[in-house]
Amino acid sequence: MYKYIEQNLRNVRARVAAAAKRAGKQENDIAIIAIAKTFPSAAIKAAVGYGLGDIGESRVQEAEQKIKELGQVTRWHLVGHLQTNKAAKAVKMFDMIQSVDSLKLAEAMNRAAEAEGKTIDCLVEINSSGEISKFGVRPSDAERLIEDILELRHISLRGLMTVGPLTEKEPVLRASFRLTRKILEQGQALAGSQFTVLSMGMSGDFEKAIEEGSNMIRLGSALFGERKK
Ligand SMILES: *Cc1c(COP(=O)(O)O)cnc(C)c1O
Repeated sequence: MYKYIEQNLRNVRARVAAAAKRAGKQENDIAIIAIAKTFPSAAIKAAVGYGLGDIGESRVQEAEQKIKELGQVTRWHLVGHLQTNKAAKAVKMFDMIQSVDSLKLAEAMNRAAEAEGKTIDCLVEINSSGEISKFGVRPSDAERLIEDILELRHISLRGLMTVGPLTEKEPVLRASFRLTRKILEQGQALAGSQFTVLSMGMSGDFEKAIEEGSNMIRLGSALFGERKK
């Protein structure tokens, strides 16, 4: 029933390999996160069977249901906005939270992780396009937030995430990716060798993101098909 996911994955992998090559990298340098929002647990199970070991969701509640059904068959990533009052729940459920965009949220996550006796892998989300509809910390505030989060012992800060602007203008898109990469490079001076993840690129723009330095792409429709509105 989900055979098309295997076909889609094969196509995606070929495109990732070509883009990675253009960026001077190997296909394996680029992690693929399968974004399963709106798709059922059975589709996730199939995707995991085809070798996708990282699944992303954008809402805590939706993920909760699926994790209950499937268990820890895969690594679970939260890529959507997280409210502070759901931080504790998210810390319990996810292996990586990619949408950290305030110190208040990071502190709530840190307390929850301490209570769980774990450290949680996180990415800081950058609003690299400046669009007010987008989540993420402003680029000019990123360095300060990174420094503050590095003080939190139960958070392992692994890098950055961004959602590129929805635009036909390629230079605008690339500028947004480039800015995020620059912030990653600046952050490395503070955060050290663990701070390497650059999560950028979705179904519509992942090749350009890889060319601009992405090493983690988040693919929904390119793998699972179009989402119902
Ligand atoms: C939905 C979503 C994706 C995947 O979107 P596609 O365009 O379907 O690949 C990636 N990242 C985030 C943050 C999302 O919310």
